[in-house]
Amino acid sequence: MTHTFKGGVHPNYMKAPEVPISVVTPPAQVVIPMIQHIGAPCKPLVAKGDYVKMGQKIGENPAPVSAPVHASVSGTVVAVEPRPHPLGDMVMSVVIENDFQDTPCEDLAPLTAEELKEPEAILNRMREAGVVGMGGAMFPTAFKVRSGIGKVDKLVINGAECEPYLNGDHLTMLNFPEQLLKGIELVRIASNVDKAYYGIEINKQDAIDLLRSYHPEKYGIEIVPEAVKYPQGGEKMQIKAVTGREVKPGGLPSGVGCNVVSTRTCYATYQACYEGRPVIERIVTVGGSAVDGPHNALTRVGTPLGYLAEQCGGFVKEPKKIVLGGPMMGICATSFDAPTIKGTSGVLYFTGKEDRMVDNPQCIRCGKCITVCPMNLEPVFMYMYYSKGDYENLEKFHVNDCFECGSCSYNCPARMPLTHAFKTAKLMLQAKATKEKAEAAAKAAKEAQK
Ligand code: SF4
Ligand code: SF4
Repeated sequence: MTHTFKGGVHPNYMKAPEVPISVVTPPAQVVIPMIQHIGAPCKPLVAKGDYVKMGQKIGENPAPVSAPVHASVSGTVVAVEPRPHPLGDMVMSVVIENDFQDTPCEDLAPLTAEELKEPEAILNRMREAGVVGMGGAMFPTAFKVRSGIGKVDKLVINGAECEPYLNGDHLTMLNFPEQLLKGIELVRIASNVDKAYYGIEINKQDAIDLLRSYHPEKYGIEIVPEAVKYPQGGEKMQIKAVTGREVKPGGLPSGVGCNVVSTRTCYATYQACYEGRPVIERIVTVGGSAVDGPHNALTRVGTPLGYLAEQCGGFVKEPKKIVLGGPMMGICATSFDAPTIKGTSGVLYFTGKEDRMVDNPQCIRCGKCITVCPMNLEPVFMYMYYSKGDYENLEKFHVNDCFECGSCSYNCPARMPLTHAFKTAKLMLQAKATKEKAEAAAKAAKEAQK
């Protein structure tokens, strides 16, 4: 029996897990941004001229919601300055001239057998190794797991990898099955729960069979096969499919006793605890119509996007758009100089022929956007209120519950720019709330002075 959720779509998956993992030669210079997580940005711990080892901590912030960053190569720091960030803007970064020696930093020793059973030791190691949500959310994992202790009774591991193109999770399952199960066990121990439920879409039946042959029950893990449907990997969809619990509008997974952690995050936890290895590389799927691909490229954090394309055979057509992540929820990068970061699961170089934009699209009231929304929203009405700038109704129609999965836009025959509109609407509402808060504070201060 397979598990799933209501709504969703079936895009052309374009996946290629049969393409083996290739290792990208690290570049002559890596650029390590101080922001590779949700939360407080890191402050650089090194200066121009310093020598750093591979895996050495080079940036941190003591705030609870933050995660340190590490050198992905050994070499000399040649700059500490703002550089283009893959998610936009210029961000303080440490630039390291690679000495191609990969001299390892041994600050993080593997945990002892006793420590591997202690929640606190695992949580501290997750933090020190810079483990963040590597499914793309980049939320610091130690903080996420710690805040769920006592509230969460079901740990859900996300193995859906439902975004088109991406193969990193599937290949991690196939190439490192035992390490992955041990990583999930560590997250389970740190979460203080007896069982982890590993939801995997059945288009990865080879991985399900392989993982089952390693007796996941030994590690306190149950594998839950899921129907193939986008966005099965959305947090709320995973929870519904695996546990039957429903996160209400505006609610959080912990509100229904669940926490969701991605496959690659569990593998990073294994590396951090068993090998003493911080997050300095990951499998990045490289594809799109502008390159001769796809490639499943093991890539060091800090590899410039232009260099990555070159290493994967270069461009066969002129690229017009770089998408980080998958095509449904990915974000456009604006510079080939921007580097890969911990959350970069894929880099797609498109020629532009994939663009579905049309001039002056007109809604034909077919309702197809409503039937596929996994959050039970009504995109057609939300779009109408967005067009009118009607904030009140946008909130009434729960636009803030839209997690920008793109299913409505994908299913819309009129090609209305629905997801883009909701992204903008959420920003508008946020700006309005901030303005109102500031006005109320100013008014209160004025009253107090009277
Ligand atoms: S309204 Fe938001 S959550 Fe619903 S399908 Fe559209 S993008 Fe996805
Ligand atoms: S799917 Fe597109 S055309 Fe149909 S109702 Fe929704 S917005 Fe309108």
